Amino acid sequence: MHAGAFGGSDEPVAPGAPQYGSPGERACHSKGAAMPDRTAAMIADIQHLVRCESPSDDLDAVARSADTVAEMGERLLGDAPERLTIDGRTHLRWRFGDGDGVLLLGHHDTVWPLSTIVTHPASIEDGILRGPGSFDMKAGLVIAFHALAALPDRDGVTLLITGDEEPGSPTSRTLIEEEARRCAAALVLEAAGPGGALKTARKGVSRYEVHVRGRAAHAGLEPEQGVNATVELSHQIQAVAELAAPDLGTTVTPTRMRGGTTSNTVPAHASFMVDVRARTVIEQQRTHDSILALVPRIEGAAVSIEGGINRPPMEAAASAALFARACRIAERLGIRALESISVGGASDGNYTAGVGTPTLDGLGAVGGGAHADDEHVIVAELPDRTRLLTALVAELLASPAPSPASASAPAPASASAARR
Ligand SMILES: [Zn+2]
Repeated sequence: MHAGAFGGSDEPVAPGAPQYGSPGERACHSKGAAMPDRTAAMIADIQHLVRCESPSDDLDAVARSADTVAEMGERLLGDAPERLTIDGRTHLRWRFGDGDGVLLLGHHDTVWPLSTIVTHPASIEDGILRGPGSFDMKAGLVIAFHALAALPDRDGVTLLITGDEEPGSPTSRTLIEEEARRCAAALVLEAAGPGGALKTARKGVSRYEVHVRGRAAHAGLEPEQGVNATVELSHQIQAVAELAAPDLGTTVTPTRMRGGTTSNTVPAHASFMVDVRARTVIEQQRTHDSILALVPRIEGAAVSIEGGINRPPMEAAASAALFARACRIAERLGIRALESISVGGASDGNYTAGVGTPTLDGLGAVGGGAHADDEHVIVAELPDRTRLLTALVAELLASPAPSPASASAPAPASASAARR
């Protein structure tokens, strides 16, 4: 293995790094001499979490991962978390004092099936840390732990680490919303955008399945007796696709489609799925109402709709004041200027913003390849991300964020136009 700035597999463990696993495992953590102890410790912690695989749909694996995350948090923060298991899914909550100042939010589940670690081992080379779930978002959890560990007074902080974010937080949503309502601000440790950009807006997500019912008939003998569900479906697909509003950032994408039974039968059933992404509540509601109002065009056909709004949008206004604060803090700390980015993908930040809590997302690792083979974390960025978070939490505890309505800072939209 080529040993880069942060070491290869034959390098010693840095002083100050926690000692995990076998000597062989430990050996690939880091090269001690080239980096501060804190960075070495963070690398070791990220790799420790990565090696404890946690696919969302494997409840035992998620429970084991929760144990590992809980132990790490207890070691770094001095307190054990509350363990909240809902329908078999394990979430962790640390509440310091009354915990109603700042919510730090992350998840410990990943999209990677068990044994991905065999084909994508935890590794570090040329300052790039790799491994399943490293970027999304185990490095973010480690940033949160180390940032809070450096905070002199954690009174007023709640740290919530859930175990089912990837499938849309089916069991943690209520918990997230309850915690967000108690807090003046929510900081989400999801991975950063390109170049470390903070995520200041996320589109809302709605999902539907449009079902069409017709009437079967022999396609050769008496096709006129049939009502062709596939032809009706083609009308519905066109009608749905026309609901998109690209100027407003609203995408309406017909996705999976099915219809019919055999090559010589007029189809009696057909269906297609629809993925809707909207920047604003108004647009999400408009598309929702329009999809529910779909009517058949062919006589005798019937249309029915399943699904609905999944996650509300995190609108730019929800993050404007927090982003402005983060920028000022970065400047004060001498960290390079922060950029913002608006993204189509949703996170639990959509839920915290959805209940009206000012929310800033993308405060986790800098790197790339979320859900992809080249998932990675840039090690050199870890210390600044951690310092930024410590300072942001400290400032928010000292003076809570204004409500989104009273935010006077310019909307991140204008600051980030180039990134959209
Ligand atoms: Zn994530």
